[in-house]
Amino acid sequence: MNALALTEQPLILVVDDEPHLRSSLSSLLNLHGYASSTADGGKSALLALKENKYALILLDLCMPGIDGHQVMEQIIENRLDTCVIVVSGDTCIDSAISALRRGACDYLKKPYTIEELMLKIEKALAKRRLEQENRQINLQLKESERWYRYMVNSSPDFIYTLDADGYCTFCNDRVETLLGYNKAGVIGKHFSTFIHAEDLPAAQYVIQERRSGDRATNNIEIRIPHGTESTLLTLEFNSFGIYDKADDTTPPRYIGTYGVAKDITEKKKAAELILYQAYHDLLTGLANRKLFKDHLELAIAQARRYKHMLALMFLDLDRFKRVNDTLGHVVGDHLLIEVAARLKKCLREGDTLARQGGDEFTLLLPQIDSQESAKSAADKIIKAFGEPFYIDGHELYVPMSIGIALFPENGDSIDTLIKNADIAMYDSKAKGRNRYQIYSPNMNTTFDERFSLEIQMHKALERNEFQVVYQPQINVVSGRISGMEALVRWTSPLLGNMSPMEFIPLAEDTGLIIPISEFVLRSAFKQAKLWKQAGLLPPRVAINISSQHLEQDKFVDYIGMLLLEYELTGSMFEIEITESTLLNEGEHIIEKLRKITSMGIKIALDDFGTGYSSLSYLKKFPIDTIKIDQSFMPKFIGDSDNESIITAICTLAQSLHLNLIAEGVEEADQYRLLHTLNCNEAQGYLFSKPLSGHDITDLLIKNTPLGQQYLPTQDCFNL
Ligand code: C2E
Ligand code: CA
Ligand code: CA
Repeated sequence: MNALALTEQPLILVVDDEPHLRSSLSSLLNLHGYASSTADGGKSALLALKENKYALILLDLCMPGIDGHQVMEQIIENRLDTCVIVVSGDTCIDSAISALRRGACDYLKKPYTIEELMLKIEKALAKRRLEQENRQINLQLKESERWYRYMVNSSPDFIYTLDADGYCTFCNDRVETLLGYNKAGVIGKHFSTFIHAEDLPAAQYVIQERRSGDRATNNIEIRIPHGTESTLLTLEFNSFGIYDKADDTTPPRYIGTYGVAKDITEKKKAAELILYQAYHDLLTGLANRKLFKDHLELAIAQARRYKHMLALMFLDLDRFKRVNDTLGHVVGDHLLIEVAARLKKCLREGDTLARQGGDEFTLLLPQIDSQESAKSAADKIIKAFGEPFYIDGHELYVPMSIGIALFPENGDSIDTLIKNADIAMYDSKAKGRNRYQIYSPNMNTTFDERFSLEIQMHKALERNEFQVVYQPQINVVSGRISGMEALVRWTSPLLGNMSPMEFIPLAEDTGLIIPISEFVLRSAFKQAKLWKQAGLLPPRVAINISSQHLEQDKFVDYIGMLLLEYELTGSMFEIEITESTLLNEGEHIIEKLRKITSMGIKIALDDFGTGYSSLSYLKKFPIDTIKIDQSFMPKFIGDSDNESIITAICTLAQSLHLNLIAEGVEEADQYRLLHTLNCNEAQGYLFSKPLSGHDITDLLIKNTPLGQQYLPTQDCFNL
């Protein structure tokens, strides 16, 4: 039923067996603006009620046949929505009363005045209207309550009310579907039962919020452990105080709170992930550059305030690029993960380790009492990296170069500390890697030079500023030239004479070593060809090969091509490699070295004794010669440490049938010692500095023994 139905003109049915009464009533009603129809008795009344809806029936009780009472009964039985005014003569007063009891809304006694009639009709219709409206309102209320209930329960948010003491008085179905609690179990419980312990203070504040309206606390995050699963949900609470306002005179009484909580667990997780990604290196899980800077900034502020020192380390893997280039990025990535894990083991609580990118890491020691603490931390790291990594079946040695900058000594801002630690790191690389350096101001030039050196080196290749010199190696017994080592020289118009010690490491870092090395090889082959053409006994020429060059796939082919091009035999050449090359490259290098030796080329192990000195690889790799590093040459008479090392190496070489060359021989005593120890060959300033190809040609032509004069005379006679 709608509002229109209420305003429609009401239809009235006049039921009376007296015809004149019927017609006069009918016209009277019409005259008063009511629509009406008539029925001449009970039977036709029932018929009319079936066909039409009547707002009101003026029902004569005393009628022949079906009387008014029976009509009433039918109306009740069929629950017709109509009101009945019973009309009756004096004699039927009792039955009129009983009709009223059964639901008739009024009684009109015959005879009646028009006013009486009209008044009763109006009253009855007004009452009926009121009833209808009430019914309508009730219906609407029920409907809207149903809607609200539906809305509250199907809300994606958790909705609840608490009483003034914080006990739950209502909650929607989300308590079950979202939070995993049984609704009945929650009602009557104190809210604190459900809150994550750490969030209780916040919850006390927000959930028992007494303020209301605009002043209410909004969007407070509170964690709730799931009722059945072991997950922790994060909800965003909005809570409002509920007040009972009895009248205008007394202040409103606080009766509890009502709140809505939105599940933001996923949103929070996503936000946390984004935050994590913004501040971490995803490969290693370490802090990234940004987070490191944040920590450093804080540490500097604290150090300044409490007047203590802090240390910042810049760490760089010495051979990472090579691992990446030869073994691929997957192995490289795995290595970085392991490196990070090993570094972490060297840390103390409170230290921050970060990956700056590539193979560079930074470490912050936020509070140290002296330079020594920083040094011992660096020592610990260097030592830890002395052990190999086992990555995807490869044994890898990746030493670290570390630069250290101290606050406040080496800088008092983030940027200077990072820059100076970086400078110190390059300095330790330049000083031979696998070590640490504390920053000192005179390093600045070294750092700036690095860049110009790199540029200059590029130009040097184009401008042919490189040259190859040869240092003779002599037979210890005869004193004659048995071979020579090709050594690169760089004379820069800008920088002057550059030592290979300075530029070779940089060339290795930048990849320029390949064109430089190819230039040395080509020059040495060209020179050897000249000597051969001049009919000079072709001496063996040794060439230093960096591992980067050796590990190139085409290296063996390149050598083969040179031999063909210059029409030379392999036996005229030797390549010098270092221990670390063998260690870094592992198994696959054996095959390569075999291919090289199968061309007749010899392999010499350079700087023997300075590396890891694992004797096993002397047998494992096809090595012909070992070169004792010049640092083992006894420095003075009675330098027994070095003497015993040299003695041991000589014995070892002999037992393994290896050719032995001693480097850095500057003193006759050293030469004589080598002679007594039966060392095969010697090389050093005592005999000759490295010379140009032209000067060597002269020596070869003269063929004079170079070491003869230093040996006891009988040896010379024996020659
Ligand atoms: P190295 O292979 O150990 O070469 C020997 C170094 O000792 C040479 O220095 C040589 O001049 C020097 N030397 C020779 N006799 C004596 C001596 O009696 N006393 C002293 N104190 N030193 C002596 P250089 O030419 O400056 O080369 C330094 C290093 O640079 C070489 O050490 C080698 O590792 C590298 N290098 C030089 N040329 C090349 C090259 O063409 N390719 C590659 N990859 N590395 C090279
Ligand atoms: Ca060498
Ligand atoms: Ca050497």
